[in-house]
Amino acid sequence: NEANINLAEFIRFTPANTQALTRRFDLMLKLRSAIRNNELMIALQPKVNLNSHKVVGFEALARWQLADGTFISPDEFIELAETAGLISVLDKLIFDKILEATNVLNCHGYCLPIAFNASTSDLLSDQYFVEMTEKIAKYGVSPQQLELEVTETQAIFNYEKVNKTLHKFAKLGIKISIDDFGTGYSSLQHIAQIPAHAIKIDRCFVSNLQNNESNEHIINMIMMLADTFGFEVIAEGVENKYEQEWLSNIGCRIAQGYLFAKPMFMDDLLVWLKNNEKLHGR
Ligand code: C2E
Ligand code: MG
Ligand code: MG
Ligand code: MG
Repeated sequence: NEANINLAEFIRFTPANTQALTRRFDLMLKLRSAIRNNELMIALQPKVNLNSHKVVGFEALARWQLADGTFISPDEFIELAETAGLISVLDKLIFDKILEATNVLNCHGYCLPIAFNASTSDLLSDQYFVEMTEKIAKYGVSPQQLELEVTETQAIFNYEKVNKTLHKFAKLGIKISIDDFGTGYSSLQHIAQIPAHAIKIDRCFVSNLQNNESNEHIINMIMMLADTFGFEVIAEGVENKYEQEWLSNIGCRIAQGYLFAKPMFMDDLLVWLKNNEKLHGR
């Protein structure tokens, strides 16, 4: 039972997907060992004010590099970790790194909030909240400096239980953002009851703004919804000036995207922050 492989995964086996399956199995073993050896890293992506370009916070994103130098995308290894029952261990290791990074940034005078991504299985376990609070205390980080991102789909899955955990975090002073907003099927009633301070517009709406009118309508709707519920709005995946200006014109204040910065490891981030400061101030 070396990698806790789900049997159902193998029953779906057909010759056509042998290669994919072999890769999956291989990666699962490697991921397990990477977790054991604490080899995962985090990259931090700045969230910026769309008008001033000043940094208002960061999102921490898990990174995994194989021995041969290639990076595996989190979309692949997070899902893999979920299937293999490794996600809660992974998220805890990542959280340690986030708390460490928070202290490093504070030492450099950047006392800005850092967001972390939580999985459904995290939010369904009572242990998760307890262990996270212990870690926060251990590193001496203020909960006010942390934000929890939960995807719309995950928040709605097993809603009662997940929402209960979210309320515990909110009570502690940790801000909650609803990630990938617009891609799930949440009811407005549920959304209204999540103790969220922000919603993040999914990248798929932002990246086709220029040639897809329906995305404009969707984003306008999300803005109205956010206004009604009193949510801050963060646009994901802003890659060009057109998107920046369009979003800023409809009153979206905060954005993340390659136009401003890619997710970076700490050394590069500190350099980027210095340069950005020279251009736009702190
Ligand atoms: P997410 O939380 O929605 O994160 C945003 C993703 O968009 C990141 O992908 C980021 O690198 C990417 N991105 C940001 N700006 C741009 C842009 O302008 N253009 C494009 N093309 N992409 C942009 P990444 O790092 O590959 O992460 C993918 C997903 O994996 C995340 O989506 C999140 O759901 C999950 N994830 C990442 N780290 C963790 C983690 O530590 N724990 C858990 N549970 N999930 C994680
Ligand atoms: Mg996120
Ligand atoms: Mg997202
Ligand atoms: Mg996502």
